[in-house]
Amino acid sequence: MDKRPFINKEKLEAVCAEHPTPFYLYDEAEIRRRARALNQAFSWNPGFKEYFAVKATPNPWIVSILAEEGCGCDCATGTELALAEACGVTGADIMLSSNDTPDEDYRQASGLGAIINLDSLDMVGCLERALGGELPKMVCCRVNPGGNFEAANGIIGNPQDAKFGMTREQLKEAFSRLVALGVEDFGIHAFLASNTQVDDYYPRLARLLFEEAVRLRDKLGVHVGLIDLSGGIGVDYRPEDPAADIAAIGEGVRQAYEDVLVAAGMGDVKICSELGRWMLAPAGALVTRVIHEKVTYKDYLGVDACAANLMRPAIYDAYHHITVMGKEDEPAPRVYNVVGRLCENNDQFAHDRMLPETTIGDLLFIHDAGAHGFSMGYNYNGSLRSAELLLREDGSVQRIRRAETRADYFATFDDDPRFSSLAQK
Ligand SMILES: *Cc1c(COP(=O)(O)O)cnc(C)c1O
Repeated sequence: MDKRPFINKEKLEAVCAEHPTPFYLYDEAEIRRRARALNQAFSWNPGFKEYFAVKATPNPWIVSILAEEGCGCDCATGTELALAEACGVTGADIMLSSNDTPDEDYRQASGLGAIINLDSLDMVGCLERALGGELPKMVCCRVNPGGNFEAANGIIGNPQDAKFGMTREQLKEAFSRLVALGVEDFGIHAFLASNTQVDDYYPRLARLLFEEAVRLRDKLGVHVGLIDLSGGIGVDYRPEDPAADIAAIGEGVRQAYEDVLVAAGMGDVKICSELGRWMLAPAGALVTRVIHEKVTYKDYLGVDACAANLMRPAIYDAYHHITVMGKEDEPAPRVYNVVGRLCENNDQFAHDRMLPETTIGDLLFIHDAGAHGFSMGYNYNGSLRSAELLLREDGSVQRIRRAETRADYFATFDDDPRFSSLAQK
């Protein structure tokens, strides 16, 4: 599909007059649209809840918008738990889907009343130790069935190579041990493929987990009240990629629910998701300006953002569509590499990309950066994190995080008598 920015050039230049590039810009209307479409797609399941994967876009303004739309938080660390709590998200509206978890995070999650999702069998003992034997009444466990995960058109994930989750045997053993510790209600979670481009990922995963739930009920007599389909629904990063049909995905899960759970007399099971990418990626962009052009063996556009702002192209060779603002309808006959300033050759947002004739001063809109974008940022070469801005539904633009300063970068020398002056720069 033709990819269009959610803002026009005139408006974006006006934003730039107040907020220097580079910055992240999020579209509140699109965030709400996506949350509503997801909730609608699963409205057949009365207990359905999306636990937004906080790591995708850990900004309290964004998390609060999602909370207004009925979403909870999926957290993996104490820091993410603190962010959820600051947004008023507590209790069973938090899912701790962590791994390699320190005891203090279990204590923090338990203090908030969060649902705890155990990644491994030995975590049963860790949880018992961390909470002094006082386990919550409801616990979720993460299963990894191994092998490859297939959709209708082939393999889409390789759980056998993933560090996450426990085997089916271990899941059964974990449930038995948890029963002995007084747990009465169980959840099952799995995340078997990432950025999936097919609408049968969730339905197939759901069927697998539903069948597992029926088996465990039959073998152990436990009550499974929650199935967590986790993240993994993809987005159309490339114009030619299919966009996920969330209504069709919800309907596919409903069919599996009828076929397996309702048929087994388990029609009270709640479904939940932990989407990050699908919820936020298309609702955010990295905005950057062309500040140099250089022609050697290739034609390079140097921009004022770099891989430290958006790491996905550098580490995954990920495609992010780029629009040259104001040139949306011009032909794209030129071939450019779009690069940042890091002293690292992988600092390239695009290789051999067909773009309109582009000049110094042009604004670039790097699409689909709203999830796993800002949050994966880093500080290499003394790069500072950018600001984050929110395009509100009324058309105003609000800064929802200021840009880092050098003082922030040097802040952790503040207790060092020799270099503490840096922390004031
Ligand atoms: C990363 C992650 C998610 C979100 O994944 P997306 O691909 O962004 O949907 C959800 N749950 C867990 C446990 C994760 O690690």
